Amino acid sequence: MSLIEIIKYGTPSLQERSVPVEEINNEIRQLAADMGESMYTNKGVGLAAPQVARNIRLFVLDTEQVTHDRRNLQVFINPEILDESVEDGPYTEGCLSIPNIEGEVFRPLRVKVRAFNEHGEEFVLEADDLLARVIQHEYDHLDGVLFIDRMSKERRALLAGQLNALRRETEASLAAAK
Ligand code: ZN
Repeated sequence: MSLIEIIKYGTPSLQERSVPVEEINNEIRQLAADMGESMYTNKGVGLAAPQVARNIRLFVLDTEQVTHDRRNLQVFINPEILDESVEDGPYTEGCLSIPNIEGEVFRPLRVKVRAFNEHGEEFVLEADDLLARVIQHEYDHLDGVLFIDRMSKERRALLAGQLNALRRETEASLAAAK
């Protein structure tokens, strides 16, 4: 199993809308497994395909792996948010593509999502707490939306220097790789 690289803020494709997965085949299953490995290695709770430079509607998550010894990777392919609670709440989020930056984001506390798993089986999940939070964060990635886009203007202004530095660093490494 290969460890795929997670791309960072400043990569244009990270902020583009992804297209649906056309066929759930071995290549997609391998991608999901590889994304899981990268996620666990980097101690994340979720990872979306655009974060590994694949602009397709797929993400993986595991909100129960805080200790990393019990792995239960959940794969979401072509997910759709069917319903969300009116009630929302704050939580301090981070993102593997935006290292060392955190910020409070308000989101609905509960969501109902429909998706396909890596075996092509459709499922519907009603989620709350951290799971609802991570589903929405990863789902946003599929639309090119980052958690920093949902922070308050004040918080974003405070982080502007750090974000610009990260963007420049990413742009420089992209230019060097050409
Ligand atoms: Zn993220």
